[in-house]
Amino acid sequence: EAKREGRNRAASFNWSLKERFNRVHEIETGLRRALDGGELKLLFQPIVNLDGGHIDACEALLRWDHPVLGPIPPSEFIPIAEGMGMIEAMTGWVLREACAAAVSWPGDVRIAINISPASLKSSELPANVIAALLESGLPARRLELEVTESIFLDNSGQTNAILRELQRIGLRLALDDFGTGYSSLSYLRSYRFDTLKIDQSFMAGVSANVEDRAIVRAIGNLARDLNMDTVAEGIETTDQLAHAREAGFTNVQGYLFSRPVPRERIAELIAAGPLDGSERPDPMPRRR
Ligand code: C2E
Ligand code: MG
Ligand code: MG
Ligand code: MG
Repeated sequence: EAKREGRNRAASFNWSLKERFNRVHEIETGLRRALDGGELKLLFQPIVNLDGGHIDACEALLRWDHPVLGPIPPSEFIPIAEGMGMIEAMTGWVLREACAAAVSWPGDVRIAINISPASLKSSELPANVIAALLESGLPARRLELEVTESIFLDNSGQTNAILRELQRIGLRLALDDFGTGYSSLSYLRSYRFDTLKIDQSFMAGVSANVEDRAIVRAIGNLARDLNMDTVAEGIETTDQLAHAREAGFTNVQGYLFSRPVPRERIAELIAAGPLDGSERPDPMPRRR
């Protein structure tokens, strides 16, 4: 009996490995076509100032609707794009699209773009950034690049040089998903990050756990003393919003204010004025 169960489990394990292999393969072939064929889309999510509700920035988030497999999350296709050496081309596309959208927003609203660690090892990144700024006419100070702690695992000095070059161009730098990765405070000393984005897992736990509340407050204090903007991501409830406020965060981002929306809709949201988190609830099912 146990033996048969074991065999069944082994069989289904083999099947899912095969499925997994096929899926990765299909994503790989699809990605080459997607970038040229207009299958990739950018959505934008507002980053709201807690003092007055103004939209300080919008984060660009990639979406890919595969013609056969359906929507594929960036957490799945970006690592595959990195492995294929396609991430530079993809980052270049995101930069151009996002800067072109942002240039029509009011002059104080920034665009935030996620940069994968692999991109920070290539000098193509500064070249892509400069091209996107020149093509769109967007001033460098309105572009913010979001990087994660994992970039500090690279000891080659290459990442370091590229970050400094980007800062020289006048961009803003944000440290994304703070608190989950290779968490060491020493690099807050070596780089002048403009913004700290606390990982959304801390905000997810803030209503239930004193530990998460303590960490959120500590990070809020630290960032304020280091003169950085602080973004609490993944704000879905008014209770989480209250905790972000209490911890002294400058900004919030999450479904409570708006999900990521298309280019036309974000322009309307920006034009409509301050958000306070009491906007009409979104009827769409929540994506987790
Ligand atoms: P991230 O940069 O930390 O982005 C925040 C993620 O949280 C996004 O997921 C966003 O849709 C989601 N989110 C926003 N508000 C809420 C909320 O209230 N509740 C919950 N549960 N989630 C919320 P998304 O769009 O699936 O992106 C996932 C990750 O993929 C991003 O994490 C980022 O690391 C990466 N990514 C997305 N677009 C790009 C891109 O253009 N380039 C690169 N290199 N990475 C990207
Ligand atoms: Mg981000
Ligand atoms: Mg994040
Ligand atoms: Mg994340």
